[in-house]
Amino acid sequence: MTSLTRGSVPAQHAAADPYPRPRRSPSRPQLVTPRSVPSQRGHGRVSPRGVLAVIGIGALAVIALWWHGTPAVSGLGGWLTGAGEVLGLLAGYGVVVLVALMARLPPLERGIGTDQLARWHAMGGRYIVSLVVAHGLLIVWGYAVEAHTSLTSEAATLLTQYPDVLMATVAGFLLLGVGIISMRAARRRVRYETWYYLHLYTYLAIALAFSHQFAVGASFINNLAARFWWSAMYLTVAVLVLWYRVAVPLRAFARHRFAVVGVKPESPGVISVYIGGSHLDELAAEPGQFFRWRFLTRSMWWSSHPYSLSAAPGTDLLRITVKDIGDHSRALSQLRPGTRVMAEGPYGAFTAGRTSRGVVLLAGGVGITPLRAMFSSLPGPVTLIYRASSEQDIVFRDELDAIAAARGAKVYYLVGSRADIGGDPLSPRMLRSLVPGLDQQEVYVCGPSGMISAAVEALRGAGVPRRQIHFESFEF
Ligand SMILES: Cc1cc2nc3c(=O)[nH]c(=O)nc-3n(C[C@H](O)[C@H](O)[C@H](O)COP(=O)(O)OP(=O)(O)OC[C@H]3O[C@@H](n4cnc5c(N)ncnc54)[C@H](O)[C@@H]3O)c2cc1C
Repeated sequence: MTSLTRGSVPAQHAAADPYPRPRRSPSRPQLVTPRSVPSQRGHGRVSPRGVLAVIGIGALAVIALWWHGTPAVSGLGGWLTGAGEVLGLLAGYGVVVLVALMARLPPLERGIGTDQLARWHAMGGRYIVSLVVAHGLLIVWGYAVEAHTSLTSEAATLLTQYPDVLMATVAGFLLLGVGIISMRAARRRVRYETWYYLHLYTYLAIALAFSHQFAVGASFINNLAARFWWSAMYLTVAVLVLWYRVAVPLRAFARHRFAVVGVKPESPGVISVYIGGSHLDELAAEPGQFFRWRFLTRSMWWSSHPYSLSAAPGTDLLRITVKDIGDHSRALSQLRPGTRVMAEGPYGAFTAGRTSRGVVLLAGGVGITPLRAMFSSLPGPVTLIYRASSEQDIVFRDELDAIAAARGAKVYYLVGSRADIGGDPLSPRMLRSLVPGLDQQEVYVCGPSGMISAAVEALRGAGVPRRQIHFESFEF
């Protein structure tokens, strides 16, 4: 047995590798997870289509609000101003939707998944910044046409005579700046933390832009009900953000008293961190989910990082397994037992629902972590395919083999280069040869983004319907 480098796991977990605790029955091998894991499917989850439909209906209501507040549009100036107003209203609605998507609302997190929400947020952000810019330009242009003056003179009038418009202009530039720094090319050049903290300026931008909507927005000036509902929308989302991003993690910290129990090396550059706590069953975490972990040491308390559970959650112990690729992940190997931890979550929709089909788990590199947790706890026939660049990069080999033996599952290690393996390991032919009846299975893929794209393409090529393919990216 490999021992932990620092600290040790509690007695009931220490006798053997804590996850899983296999127990054999005379008739059929059984796998006992630390506690039975409830399926969250159907509990407070929402469907992606349903959410998109609600967002779309909200956008139509916003256009109706503009229509109601705009009795007639005439002349070039009127059309330009009208277009500017409706785009501004849509931008004002859109920023609230974008913030709501990132408010860590449990039904969204569990039903849609954090990575998908982040993709929607990023895509929506591009539209919103475009709407904001178009809104500003069209309004100035429309007013200039109506006042028979130049663009610069109209812009100067608006900025000097309307303080709310000045604040909204500052907000617009802040949003534009955040949009530019979030563009793929720019984002690659800045540290994640820099990007993240600059991103928080969007909250300031939203606050700065709020008042100009009521002060000069034609749809609100004479419409008390519209002002009420618009304010209620902003207030509701603000309360949800504070609740789910601040209050809930603090409450969980007090209730569960998370603390590091020990750190264990798994393979070169990969360690597991065991985190103890009380009443962990109340978290209702599922294999495949992740938490955002904030380790309260002098150098790490200020940032939280997402790491998946690498074993089915226990009632008093959780495990994450981390590959060192940067400052934070590297520093985890130095954690001392007793270090207090804030854990925000569980998050993610990368969990297995009840299915009568067989399940294939397809892991690349450190993407094995959530699949390892699922491997020990999924009911029914399971096949695990684990792609690694070298033998020493394989994490959990002993555990995986033990679980496979206990439950009668198959594990395939695809190690080395294409030449070593004798072809593309992720080709439809190779996958079909490993898993007979592949197109009838639910497939869960986790790994680097390039590997995920290649795997999804190969699975589609092997005839697996899109709805049976589930994947999680470790990049937001
Ligand atoms: C849902 C999810 C689950 C994950 N599970 C695991 C896991 O089980 N094991 C594992 O080894 N890795 C996991 N990761 C990846 C892990 O979060 C990053 O490797 C880690 O945060 C890198 O931080 P760093 O400071 O060491 O490296 P850096 O060099 O600072 O960052 C490398 C990259 O990691 C990402 N990243 C950095 N900080 C954060 C952050 N605070 N929040 C989100 N992304 C960030 C960015 O894409 C960044 O470009 C997961 C990521 C996600 C999104």
